[in-house]
Amino acid sequence: MTPEEFRRAGHELIDWIADHRTRVPDLPVAAQVRPGEVSAALPRTAPEHPEPFADVLADLDRVVVPGVTQTQSPGFYGWFPSNASLASVLGDIASGGVGALGITWQSAPALTEVEQVVTDWLRDLCGLSTQWRGAIQDTASTGCLVAMLAARERASGGSEHGGGLQALEAPLVVYTSPEAHSSVAKAALLAGFGADNLRYVEVDPVTRAMDPGALRQAMADDVAVGRVPAMVVAAVGTTGTTAMDPVPEIVAVAREHGAWVHVDAAMAGSAMLLPEMRHLFAGVDDADSLAWNPHKWMGTILDTSLLYVRDVDHLVSVMSTTPSYLCASTDAEVVQYKDWGIPLGRRFRALKLWFHLRLDGVEAIRERLRRDLDNARWLAAQVEAEPGWRVLAPVPLQTVCVVHEPPGLTGDALDAHTLAWVDAVNAGGRAYLGASRLDGRWMVRVSVGAEATERPDVAALWDLLRTTTARLAADGGATGRP
Ligand code: PLP
Repeated sequence: MTPEEFRRAGHELIDWIADHRTRVPDLPVAAQVRPGEVSAALPRTAPEHPEPFADVLADLDRVVVPGVTQTQSPGFYGWFPSNASLASVLGDIASGGVGALGITWQSAPALTEVEQVVTDWLRDLCGLSTQWRGAIQDTASTGCLVAMLAARERASGGSEHGGGLQALEAPLVVYTSPEAHSSVAKAALLAGFGADNLRYVEVDPVTRAMDPGALRQAMADDVAVGRVPAMVVAAVGTTGTTAMDPVPEIVAVAREHGAWVHVDAAMAGSAMLLPEMRHLFAGVDDADSLAWNPHKWMGTILDTSLLYVRDVDHLVSVMSTTPSYLCASTDAEVVQYKDWGIPLGRRFRALKLWFHLRLDGVEAIRERLRRDLDNARWLAAQVEAEPGWRVLAPVPLQTVCVVHEPPGLTGDALDAHTLAWVDAVNAGGRAYLGASRLDGRWMVRVSVGAEATERPDVAALWDLLRTTTARLAADGGATGRP
């Protein structure tokens, strides 16, 4: 493709994206395909000869759009918000267009230095101290793994004796909450801790936040049998209920054993942009690492996850590799992001943040976050006030965990009803919700915060939930999923 051909196709693509985003509110929110349907709509072999761009665009509408859950829809309340602000989409396109090779500072100085600047901007906007330095990772899962590798090496003095975990006599232990995201267990596996050395510390039954007393006891028990507490992963905004682990107390306990504290604020981190919400993040400044996904609620398109650390020198000592083909005379003066994480080649992801912040402006982002918090509180108040409905967990942020309890329905029958009404709502196409288990029972998470969701949308959702549950009850109840 020549630049001139690209120009013509690119204009058409931008038009397609703008038209698509205009149409999104009218599309069914859930993906409209059965397993295998997308692949069956595609040819079995790759084209030998160029195809017209119009055919490719037509297939976006025919094959791709129905095969995507419309996370940009005002009716999207599933998982967590996965906003893809159009300003950041432009940054993504620019990133591809520049075509930079991000392997060292020398290969693309701008890639490195724009990333340094935007991660510093966001750190300052969140009220974090300047001791933190950030890098963009693909996801919070990777951020957690990188932090865990750094914690492991600090606890084992790994780089000094080079024998890795095999050379240690005392097993290293990671602590987290049972409410923590599954990526913590995956990171523990990948970092070599093994399931036996991952402890799930008790949580408070109401707030679902980690109990620091239980953490202290768990660490003492491990030390008593010759194990070494290496790391605590504190969840600030858990995936199930957005519970907030008490970071100041966790840091104090961890310090007694020299353990690393990683704060997983993948979802909640965006709230740090709001000064009035920063009390939820007390103590975070004293942790060792922090992961936060602007690609969730803040709205910079995937994949834009931030990992901040306070001791960059330690991280670099763990992650650096210096083959001769990557060395240059300026090495001592520059940041080499290859030494802050796992991959060598990195995309110019900072452009997504740079475009998003410059074109939307921080004030508009803050106002949107405030709107979402307000909408979630409004919804929680409606649910609390309605007979037969219950809010199951505190609502510190924008996610409301609800259950509808018709008289006389408990246990498995209540579970079946919950799954039936959430499936019915999702099948209707006007909204998309997620079901999840809490204390062994199904509940529904309403995660407010799609960029397009306004109060009338949330009010319409609340009407939909009541009419759907009433209809199912009138039909004689539901059986739920198999
Ligand atoms: N941590 C928390 C609290 C999450 O809610 C999630 C995803 O929802 C993750 C980590 C994983 O995020 P990512 O998809 O960026 O790996």
